[in-house]
Amino acid sequence: MNQSNKKYLEFMRNCGVNYFLQDSPRNWFDNDKKLSNEVDKNKKKEIEAIIKKIQSHETDLKKNAKNLVVFDGSLDAKIIFIGEAPGRDEDYHGLPFVGRAGQLLNKMLAAINLKREEVYVTNVVNWRPPDNRTPTDEEILEFLPFLQEQIDIVNPDFIFLLGGVAAKAILSTPLSLGKLRGTWHEYHSLKMNKTIYTLASYHPAFLLRSPKFKKASWEDLQMLQKKLNENN
Ligand code: URA
Repeated sequence: MNQSNKKYLEFMRNCGVNYFLQDSPRNWFDNDKKLSNEVDKNKKKEIEAIIKKIQSHETDLKKNAKNLVVFDGSLDAKIIFIGEAPGRDEDYHGLPFVGRAGQLLNKMLAAINLKREEVYVTNVVNWRPPDNRTPTDEEILEFLPFLQEQIDIVNPDFIFLLGGVAAKAILSTPLSLGKLRGTWHEYHSLKMNKTIYTLASYHPAFLLRSPKFKKASWEDLQMLQKKLNENN
């Protein structure tokens, strides 16, 4: 650039001109997109690594199960939904919440304008317990580090706990859902310097058996929706 061009550029800058029109439209989000693609790639790698880790973790639960079930949805989700453990359908498909409880979960999400693809869905335990029994405290603790790692990777703003097992695992409390639901709790990651606001509510499978609790569940979902809207 010669001296007079330099001077002209300086003059333009001083006049407040920060860019020139181009022949083709400028994509202002190009850099952001590149950045978020990078983040996506890193998260994908990290999740793949954790899936490998869970797969190679020796546990009795593996003996009776067909498929490992880790997650469904988006690695960039602002909210993580955590259930208990895979059931028969989830074990068959290798995906969480695909059976009747999963269909209800999809409806619950839709009721607050969320799509399955926008949230991260997982379970406390990643192999189906025999006969769909509730995971033992030992099994919950055995799988908890994998769950905590997933939370760190996804780095959500909110967690929604579906049922008592998820509440016990994440909030480390023996309190019943009746006592825990309806108020915000805080989850502190060991690694991240961040508070994740957490709600505990009823499991969709429980709601299918006991529909009278759907009203309370709806109130909890609305609490989440309000916070999500405030956060946007
Ligand atoms: N119940 C759960 O807790 N998780 C599933 O994935 C399915 C049913």
